[in-house]
Parts: sequence; C-alpha cells; structure tokens
Amino acid sequence: SITTWLQYNITRYGDGERLILVRDITRLHNLEQMRKDFVANVSHELRTPLTVLVGYLETMLDNAEGPQSRWIRPLQQMQQQASRMQSLLNDLLMLSRLETSDVRIEERPVAIDRMLTEIRKDALALSGERRHEITLEITSPETLKGLETELRSAISNLVYNAVKYTQDGGRIHISWSRDDQGARLSVADNGPGIPREHLHRLTERFYRVDSSRNSTTGGTGLGLAIVKHVMMRHQGSLQISSSPGQGSTFTCVFPPERLLDPS
Ligand code: ADP
Repeated sequence: SITTWLQYNITRYGDGERLILVRDITRLHNLEQMRKDFVANVSHELRTPLTVLVGYLETMLDNAEGPQSRWIRPLQQMQQQASRMQSLLNDLLMLSRLETSDVRIEERPVAIDRMLTEIRKDALALSGERRHEITLEITSPETLKGLETELRSAISNLVYNAVKYTQDGGRIHISWSRDDQGARLSVADNGPGIPREHLHRLTERFYRVDSSRNSTTGGTGLGLAIVKHVMMRHQGSLQISSSPGQGSTFTCVFPPERLLDPS
C-alpha cells in the first residue's frame, strides 16, 4: 500500500481566522525510513565478521608464548578496539530497535530496586581504584512496567557516565522517588559539569562535549541518545541540569501509568 504522510500546522488569529498549512512529507519520511533501515542492516551485518575476528584474536593471545610474546601488546590493542566496535554496534542496534515503533519488544514488570542495586554494584566495580563514593536511595520500592533490557541500558549509561566523567573519589548519588507526576530516577554527580551551550545537544547521536578528552574514556557518544529514546518509549522524559565546576544531574521522569502497585 502507498501511504502519504502529511504534516499540519495551524495558526490561529485573534479574529477567529486561521491559517492551515499542510505539507506533504512523504518523501522526507521515506528517506528517514531508509536511513534507519540502512543503519540497522549495516550494524547487523558487521556483527558476524567482528565476532569471528574477536574469536581468533583470543586464540592468538592464548598462544602468544615464547618468541610470539612480542605480539601480546598489539593483540591486546586489537582486542580492545574490536570490543569498542562491538559496543558501538550494540548501541546502534538498540537505537534502531527503539526507533522502529512497530517492532514489538515485550514489556514486563521490572523491579526497580533490584535493578538499581545491581547497577550500583557494577558501577563500583567500574570505578575500582578510582574510588568513587556511590550512594543509592530508594524512597519507594517500585515495580515499573517497561522494557527491562532497554531500561537497564539507559540507567547504566547514566551511572557509568557519572563514573567516567567525575574525578577520582567523586560523589555519585542515585535516587528513586515517587511524586504525583509519577516517579523520578536521578543520577547526580559532583564532577566537572557541562557548559550550558552543550546541554540541548547532548542527546544527539555521537555528540560529545570534548572529543579529545573523551577519546580516552572510550564511550561511543550514543549513550544519552539511547537514554532519550528509552524514555520516549516509556512516555517519559529525560531532564539534564548541570553547573560547570559543581556537577551534573540527569533525571528520568516516568508517568504514573508506568508504575505497578508493589505486591
Ligand atoms: P559518551 O559518554 O559515550 O561520550 P554520551 O551520549 O553518554 O556519550 O554522553 C555525551 C557527552 O555528554 C559525553 O561525551 C560527555 O562529554 C557528556 N557527559 C555525559 N555525562 C556526563 C557527566 N555525568 N558529567 C559530565 N559530562 C557528561
């Protein structure tokens, strides 16, 4: 079937007159669809060859002894880059899945307190010698109806970012609370903060505040784009506030319909 996509724009004037603009955006919509399909297909196709490469690298590393041991460092470098590529592809695939609204990913009851406790534990491991102080505060243990894998990925992205960008020994506070507008999950750090002019672009794909500083932290630049899309899929939103030199707070707001009564 052939679908036509129209965009309406209505302007009302004081005396009851209105101006209605109708735009045919079918071509734009189809192009956008092609872009999404292309990214999804390429990411998917690149996964298999990469898995093969990673497998062989591992075998070679296991056998790099004696005269072969001079290959250990280059092999380790290759392994590191290959695993960066794997996380990039995984992130791109997750974004594609989230964008394609007709794909039915299953919603389930998600126990928030358990998920947050696990993420905090992983974040402490990620911090390791850098010794961040990571606290978790849950004022109402809740079950949320949502996409478990995607939610875990979104929340981990926020918490791992806080670890990545906050100076050693810094403080990170994760909190979950409920109010009449639903529930809010916030991740606050006392790290370097983000200059105001970058805030509105942070959730764009591949957008990074300082690409030279970030090349060592190994991110993909897709983390916050994923968070934004995950929140959109849950009819929620992501709020970012930050003051340079003092820290940043990322807050996910979930609508009340998402909360299941704790049993
Ligand atoms: P990545 O971390 O992979 O670069 P993200 O989309 O997760 O990509 O984040 C985008 C950018 O936002 C980061 O490159 C970083 O500059 C900035 N950022 C994210 N979280 C924080 C934070 N907690 N403190 C300071 N800067 C941050």
